[in-house]
Amino acid sequence: MSQHILTAVAWPYANGPRHIGHVSGFGVPSDVFSRYQRMAGNKVLMVSGTDEHGTPIQVQADKEGVTARELADRYNRVIAEDLTGLGLSYDLFTRTTTKNHYAVTQEIFKGLYDNGYIFPKTTMGAISPSTGRTLPDRYIEGTCPICGYDGARGDQCDNCGNQLDPIQLINPKSRINGETPTFVETEHFMLDLPAFTEVLGSYLQSKQGEWRPNVLKFALNLLGDLQPRAISRDLDWGVPIPLDGWRDQPNKRLYVWFDAVIGYLSASIEWARRSGDPDAWREWWQNPDARGYYFMGKDNIVFHAEIWPAMLFGYSGRGDRAGTAGSLGALEVPSEVVSSEFLTMEGKKFSSSRQVVIYVRDFLARYDADALRYYIAVAGPENQDTDFTWQEFVNRNNGELVAAWGNLVNRSISMAAKNFGAVPEPGDLTDADRALLERSRKAFAPVGEELSRSRFKNAINEAFDVVREANKYLAEQEPWKLKEDPERQKSILHVALQVVDDAKTMLTPFLPSSSNKVFSMLGGEGVWSGMPEIREVDEDGGTPYPVITGEYDGAARWEHRPIKPGTPLAPPVPLFKKLDPKVVDEELARLGE
Ligand SMILES: [Zn+2]
Repeated sequence: MSQHILTAVAWPYANGPRHIGHVSGFGVPSDVFSRYQRMAGNKVLMVSGTDEHGTPIQVQADKEGVTARELADRYNRVIAEDLTGLGLSYDLFTRTTTKNHYAVTQEIFKGLYDNGYIFPKTTMGAISPSTGRTLPDRYIEGTCPICGYDGARGDQCDNCGNQLDPIQLINPKSRINGETPTFVETEHFMLDLPAFTEVLGSYLQSKQGEWRPNVLKFALNLLGDLQPRAISRDLDWGVPIPLDGWRDQPNKRLYVWFDAVIGYLSASIEWARRSGDPDAWREWWQNPDARGYYFMGKDNIVFHAEIWPAMLFGYSGRGDRAGTAGSLGALEVPSEVVSSEFLTMEGKKFSSSRQVVIYVRDFLARYDADALRYYIAVAGPENQDTDFTWQEFVNRNNGELVAAWGNLVNRSISMAAKNFGAVPEPGDLTDADRALLERSRKAFAPVGEELSRSRFKNAINEAFDVVREANKYLAEQEPWKLKEDPERQKSILHVALQVVDDAKTMLTPFLPSSSNKVFSMLGGEGVWSGMPEIREVDEDGGTPYPVITGEYDGAARWEHRPIKPGTPLAPPVPLFKKLDPKVVDEELARLGE
């Protein structure tokens, strides 16, 4: 039965280009999952976009002497191009600075507010004594009360990562003119998380045995100590607060995390409108049979397993104090939160400032997207923190992609093309032939089962076992020595080509570009697995912006397809680039090792 599957992918923050650590946590896993689900016949809606509000964007823009909007425009485009280059099949990858996103965010705020889940709180805010005006958080600097770092900002310490209020800073100073701010009473809004303790408790308990244990354990632990959470800041870059007396205040905005999680919904609504059926999003958000899968790094579990479900429950009138659903109607909460651990680089944390980094763009300029996708699937941080090393990347590329899979494709197709010009007709099959064919055909179910549960490492290893078995079979059967026995040679090559076709199908979610090539090499016509593209769109004739989208319903199905004898074959081109071992030293030199 065909199911509606929402793939909700974490929103990359648009204050700079993204590195391979970022895309290993959310990008590639969510795409592997979505491609598999489409092949299995489900209706997938995969959405995300760039997260463009908040202090770090403003700080970076101030540093570069541009506006926040200009900075966001630049990195929105860079990130969209990088994710397209990786072949990530978003139905819509948009951004948080659209009018649509502002409207949806304000609607969710109002719904929560009307149901009593948002309340005002008086806190101490900074003003500039010389001008009497509000001093936004990012313009206040001082010593962190937690770690002692002396460059902490009014909203966050970049050294220890803790969120702060300006009044907590020791020796606070204005970054504009060095004066000491004065603190006056000011109002902010809080999300009443304790009012969701019961509903979140039963929600999380119902996920036992279904979610990755680390995610569930983390989320359940947080339940015991839910605190109200600030959802507005003294900030001039963000979504205005949609209440009279607040809307027009230039220095009060919704906190960036609050609008960013709403992006999953606003992007779905934008996708529906662009698809020509403005209500189409409801099939994924209001259908109890639909499933919503959220992909992110582990630092974001709290937002996806706790806060976003609380917001959805509250908006839908299903929090501990009940209420009524807002004008969008009741909304479904995440079915599963699929969180990855962290990737480090050559034993160190990724760091743009310390140059321990490789950006997606630079990676794709030198290596194939499928080579990175393969590495992330087989050796990425699925269940534990893992280390990316150039040595392992080169070893896996050359040993597994080139020598095992690429070589199987290449020698089977080139031998059949050279000797017969087409897929050969098999004669009588031996036990060895039948055993390999059956091994390959039977792999679809377990590999698919692992993919449907986001166990990518198991899935790709099982698919690669078939590749290894096929190489062993060719080594044993030695078809190249059977010039005198063309009938037997035909049978062996037929078997090998059938297994290449099966393996190509099973590897498609991981390696879409090279699988498309194998599909064509075996005589396939049309699109096998669709690839994403960038389109320029606008809102009501406003400034154009790039989105990622695509047509993904190609021929690819999660099933064994018998190959047809007589299908013409051309000599193949190599599937993957073999890497010179010198690459390792060159890359380490770039890292300053
Ligand atoms: Zn600190």
